[in-house]
Amino acid sequence: MTLATVRGMKDILPPESERWAALEASFRDHAGRYGFREIRTPLLERTELFARAVGETTDIVEKEMYTFTDRSGESLTVRPEGTASVVRAYLDHRPAAGEGPVRLFYIGPMFRHERPQKGRMRQFHQLGAELFGTDAPYADAETMAFLHGFLAGAGLRGISLEINSLGDPECRPAYHARLTEYLASRDGELCDDCRRRRVRNPLRVLDCKSERCVRATADAPSALDFLCGPCRDHFAAVESALSSAGVPFTRNARMVRGLDYYRRTTFEFVIPGMGAQNTVAAGGRYDGLAQLLGGKERVPAIGFAIGMERLLMLLGEGGGASPAADVFLVTTSAALLPEAFRRKMDLVAAGVRAEMDYDGRSLKSQFRRADRSGAKVVLVLGEEEWGRGAVGYRDMAKGIQEEIPAEEAMRRLRGVPKEG
Ligand code: ATP
Ligand code: MG
Repeated sequence: MTLATVRGMKDILPPESERWAALEASFRDHAGRYGFREIRTPLLERTELFARAVGETTDIVEKEMYTFTDRSGESLTVRPEGTASVVRAYLDHRPAAGEGPVRLFYIGPMFRHERPQKGRMRQFHQLGAELFGTDAPYADAETMAFLHGFLAGAGLRGISLEINSLGDPECRPAYHARLTEYLASRDGELCDDCRRRRVRNPLRVLDCKSERCVRATADAPSALDFLCGPCRDHFAAVESALSSAGVPFTRNARMVRGLDYYRRTTFEFVIPGMGAQNTVAAGGRYDGLAQLLGGKERVPAIGFAIGMERLLMLLGEGGGASPAADVFLVTTSAALLPEAFRRKMDLVAAGVRAEMDYDGRSLKSQFRRADRSGAKVVLVLGEEEWGRGAVGYRDMAKGIQEEIPAEEAMRRLRGVPKEG
């Protein structure tokens, strides 16, 4: 029996891996334009980091984390998301006071023990960004503009940006109280999970995907109606900055996000009609998180994460054919393999995509492979010609083969234009 991958995890093979690399390169490019620089944090963190940052009553902490005790008896968790680690790292290496905003991006795998389905994996990948040190509404707008620009640039059509504000510690308690009251009146109509969590975390109920709960809370009170003056001003300024950045958006007062750390602005990029896996990217402001993790002062911050698998799924198949070879070296006898190999290595070192067969296959099967490789030129090393210091040089497009000195062939090939 062969061993398969762990459930919910998968290998990423060519040409798929090439589409990944291209998207990652484009993300790096967009990040650079907005001044974001890369951070790479460990995959393992203390369990407590996520328990505190993501929140004890969230789906992630309640039932999705890969948590284990290591050989030193410490409880560790394989990261389920990126923000908590980046904030931890920011606090560990915090910049000197007065140094202005810090912009960081990350790319990498995340792990959640969820029920695998289309667009929902146990190892999945996120492209994310975090902007620390300013609570200016422009920072919110800039972050969403970056995300919008990247998604549109990737060729995603029909995306819509939905935004909301959850208020801050000033105004959220009043909204919580009102929502809790409302949910109590709907108790019988909620799913079992929500009935349990509605008291401890009423916002989570609005994030529930079960149809029951969506129906039961259709006319739930809106956070936007409870915003205090400063939160209302902030939200209005975010909307107007988005407009001046040319980023279209709609309000969605029900969009609360599943994580506890959000304050004020939350947002999602959704593709209408994609069912429960319709959120391709999501984020929000989390001004209170640094303090929650033991930071001395409040560090205003905003960030987002894009689900790589979902983005690729939405972009559909296409592209990614394996790149054509420039030249394929064919030998008429196994005795010439060492010579052919040396020429192939020379060509590759010179930047030419050269291929050959190592296994001494028949001439016919070597030519078949040469054809499939898409090579524009086939170099034939034959016993007789080689004895004269010559090779067969076959132009595949023209179907013409000539005999030329080996060194002349090598010179020509070094000038073969590369695919691209
Ligand atoms: P969902 O509501 O779909 O479970 P979420 O709120 O748990 O998403 P976030 O924690 O905000 O998601 O993660 C940001 C993005 O990462 C999501 O919008 C989605 O694109 C992607 N994502 C989250 N969980 C998974 C998963 N298990 N498999 C693949 N992609 C995922
Ligand atoms: Mg989830």
